[in-house]
Amino acid sequence: MIISVDDVVAGAIDEASADLRKLSLAIHDNPELALKEDKACHLLVHYLESRGYTVQRNVAGLSTAFASTHVSSAGAHGLHIGFCSEYDALPGIGHGCGHNLIAISGVAMFLATTRVMDRCRIPGTVKLYGTPAEEAIGGKITMLDHGVFDDRDLLMMLHPTAGYSGAWHSQCCLSMRIEYFGKASHAAMAPWDGINAGTAANIAMLSMGALREQLKPDWRTHGIITNGGEAANVIPEYSSIEYTIRTAWASELQVLRERTLRVFEAAALATGCTHKVTEEFAYLDNQDNPVLGRLYEEIMESEYHSPPERDVGGSTDFGNLSQRFISLHGMFDLAGTRVPNHTVEFTKEARSVEAHRRAIFAAKTGARVVARCLVDEDFWKQVKKAHEERQQSSGAH
Ligand SMILES: [Zn+2]
Ligand SMILES: [Zn+2]
Repeated sequence: MIISVDDVVAGAIDEASADLRKLSLAIHDNPELALKEDKACHLLVHYLESRGYTVQRNVAGLSTAFASTHVSSAGAHGLHIGFCSEYDALPGIGHGCGHNLIAISGVAMFLATTRVMDRCRIPGTVKLYGTPAEEAIGGKITMLDHGVFDDRDLLMMLHPTAGYSGAWHSQCCLSMRIEYFGKASHAAMAPWDGINAGTAANIAMLSMGALREQLKPDWRTHGIITNGGEAANVIPEYSSIEYTIRTAWASELQVLRERTLRVFEAAALATGCTHKVTEEFAYLDNQDNPVLGRLYEEIMESEYHSPPERDVGGSTDFGNLSQRFISLHGMFDLAGTRVPNHTVEFTKEARSVEAHRRAIFAAKTGARVVARCLVDEDFWKQVKKAHEERQQSSGAH
């Protein structure tokens, strides 16, 4: 009997499926916010160690990041593959982005690829990265800055949403904190002695609203006043705003950033306040690889008999990796119910048996795409060529 590479992938993932379901439920039922994913990180590290893999903890100075490395039994002189697992939850709604499923799909692809390399005697290395804080500061960006991914030829991760896609072009996203510093005074006895930082925050919010008229249809700006003063009878000496701007392309993000910074500065000028802008994190757009994406979509379509979805919004820190590395960010349909991400309904579906089944199929699909890169030299050449072309065309925006 001839066993195909796809059979090796399916066998490795099916064997682990029951364990992965337990991990997924444990992570889902103990939602932890960005950089506080201690239990999820521990569960995943412990599972990998119980399977005989070595795991490095505290990667890039992040206490909830990890990296596990496997060297093929045929040697390390081949492709270097990396998978990402996420496991942070959202404030208030728990796993409303299904990162419990991202966690286990990363593990599943890692197990399958190590099995393929070992069984089929294909040289190379495989890494699984535990990447925290996707919903907040972007753990992958910190890890990227520390050179954690530097030796990888191909990076891959999966994400649940409504519909599937191998060609997600995510939005760029810059998150900022703006602070205004004024002077407190009694709001009735001597308001003329004060410098109103609360007013500066209000002007900034209104001016950002006015700026929207001149923005491109796919640009987004949204924010909240996080501190507008302490008491109604005191002129506020301090105020703060959290603001996010999004564009389709990295070059456009710079344009919108400069216009936004002028708005925040103008509010300080108008009120006599001083101000400080802290740029908290910037997610760049996800550059898809058409060759990897097409194979991913072909396999998904053979299962679901519906076309891929292309217009999915949102941002990811994986985008920053895609700008440098050959990569695939594969989307899979959560449970066929079309509920949107970041809702309580999504949280509920993310622990369903159907969502697990679909995450497992997506992981098999992702691992099959990687296996094709390992065994088909021509295919890998096409993947590399597509990456170069994509990098050139995105620079034109
Ligand atoms: Zn999310
Ligand atoms: Zn997410």
